[in-house]
Amino acid sequence: MTVELHPHRPVTPVPGIDPVALARLQRNLRGEVIRPSEPSYDDERRVWNGSVDRHPAAILRCVDVDDVRTAVRFARQAAVPLAVRSGGHSFAGLSVCDDGIVVDLGSMRQIRVDHRQRTVRAQAGVLLGELDRATQPFALAVPVGSVTHTGLAGLTLGGGIGWLMRKHGLTVDSLLSVQVVTADGETLTASQTQNPDLFWGVRGGGGNFGIITSFELRLHAVGPMVHSGVLLWPLEQGAQVVRRYRDWAASAPDELTTALIMRRAPMVEAVPERMRGKPAVLVASCWVGPLDRADRLLEPMRHAGAAPVDLSSVRSFVEHQSQFDPNFPQGMWAWSRATEVSALTDDVLDTMLQHASRIRSRRSAITAWQLGGAVARVGPLDTPFGSRSSAYLIDFLGGTDSADGFDSEQSWAHDGWTALAPHHAGAYVNWLMDEGEERVRQSYGAERYERLRELKRRYDPDNAFRLNANISPH
Ligand SMILES: Cc1cc2nc3c(=O)[nH]c(=O)nc-3n(C[C@H](O)[C@H](O)[C@H](O)COP(=O)(O)OP(=O)(O)OC[C@H]3O[C@@H](n4cnc5c(N)ncnc54)[C@H](O)[C@@H]3O)c2cc1C
Repeated sequence: MTVELHPHRPVTPVPGIDPVALARLQRNLRGEVIRPSEPSYDDERRVWNGSVDRHPAAILRCVDVDDVRTAVRFARQAAVPLAVRSGGHSFAGLSVCDDGIVVDLGSMRQIRVDHRQRTVRAQAGVLLGELDRATQPFALAVPVGSVTHTGLAGLTLGGGIGWLMRKHGLTVDSLLSVQVVTADGETLTASQTQNPDLFWGVRGGGGNFGIITSFELRLHAVGPMVHSGVLLWPLEQGAQVVRRYRDWAASAPDELTTALIMRRAPMVEAVPERMRGKPAVLVASCWVGPLDRADRLLEPMRHAGAAPVDLSSVRSFVEHQSQFDPNFPQGMWAWSRATEVSALTDDVLDTMLQHASRIRSRRSAITAWQLGGAVARVGPLDTPFGSRSSAYLIDFLGGTDSADGFDSEQSWAHDGWTALAPHHAGAYVNWLMDEGEERVRQSYGAERYERLRELKRRYDPDNAFRLNANISPH
């Protein structure tokens, strides 16, 4: 059976979804219903990770809260998989599914800054760079992640680590309230005073409890200029550099957030020709204290190894935030495995270096993010985020520009992560692929996981929202 939705455009029936119901849905939705027969379907089903190739029965491009409620009710009635997409940067590609419904919030992009109250309201489809650009004219910022085309929604719901975290905490630590569409299609507000149990859950518990349609966040004084540090050495000097880094970072003030990165050096003019494309060690940092102190702070690292290539400078915060974007283009093929460690021991560092010497692809990298500071000052049970007391989060990212060579990058990333097994001390839900319940439990730790599970039973007992780092109600 086919139903005419638009003149001359036949609807192909999809298993599990009644085409008549789909036609009715289009009439009830202010946004768009994108079906496999639409010319834009192939573009619309794509997510950031190019290795993900799924074919949903329909993508529902919601434009307001009522659309989201309608979409949830529709998917539940049809009893088909329900994926939620905001920025589309799930490493595992969980924001798109086969034969189900994708509730797409990418059109909900409104941002309202109240610079006097130092708060911002952002709809779920907002990307990190858009938020920075809206708040920086007031020299204010929310601590968010490090690649500007990532979605605010997914990032916030898992915790949100980035360049401001040691001074201002995780993204969830600045969350004031959210608007949620529940599994029943109802709308709730969650904050410290309204539905506080749900508010606790969304500050790290991912998309398990409903679809968040908007976020209210606290703003912090940041920028507009910051000191953006990038020092780069050939990998051969790594053994000395990484040890100097460990000691230097351990005494860093909270205004400084740092990351130790191993990847192939970029093919840019600023990097000497002999180093371009070769495995390298990078120390990247963001200093949000008084700018005249930045150079003195970086001094110990500038004297590590033979003189590093120094790409550091005072930049606008907006520019700092986007500097690593070119390493993570839309559609790259990506596979990641991450772990927390409680210290950068000699063994951890040497394992990372050994593995870095085998990096083939310019898209692959090992990144160790330094935690501590404001992240560690929030109580361990105050939010579900499970990595408060860890020293570093280390990610092995195997990436390529296409299917070519992807399998071997995947094995490379997996082997690196496995080699660190004696030091594994937990995980971060936003960096999980589809790794099963045990890894989700590990990310939260037993106590937080059980509390999340109780919440899941209360807010989503049928596990309608299961395409995520899933907390099973059962
Ligand atoms: C290139 C890149 C860089 C990254 N950098 C960082 C970083 O610096 N710091 C960091 O902490 N993380 C980082 N991440 C991880 C990132 O936080 C997660 O992948 C996050 O889920 C992405 O959010 P999104 O909205 O773009 O993704 P989506 O794919 O749209 O969503 C991911 C998942 O989040 C849930 N979700 C999304 N929107 C909603 C919503 N509105 N309501 C309820 N649930 C929802 C769904 O379960 C969905 O499957 C990075 C990821 C990539 C690919």
